[in-house]
Amino acid sequence: MNQACEWCNSKNVTQISGSVFWELPDGTRAIEITNTPTFSCPDCSMVYQSEQIVKKIEDQLFLIDCKKIGKVISYLDLMAVPRLLKKNYFDYFSP
Ligand SMILES: [Zn+2]
Repeated sequence: MNQACEWCNSKNVTQISGSVFWELPDGTRAIEITNTPTFSCPDCSMVYQSEQIVKKIEDQLFLIDCKKIGKVISYLDLMAVPRLLKKNYFDYFSP
């Protein structure tokens, strides 16, 4: 899959694994998510997560019991946490 930089459209963007700090949906604290699929662009120096990944993390944090997560969790471990609800009810209202 050929990915262009979301910021400068460069085709030189590469996929790396990075750590991101994420505030929990309830705003009580932030966690560190390690090994997150991350794009790094050599042309504009942006390091970022794609919208798809951001959405996945947001959905997952919304649907799991965040109290069970420690301060640091890997992306794969986070995605493996069982969800409390079967679907994201907020998505139901989005276009
Ligand atoms: Zn770029």
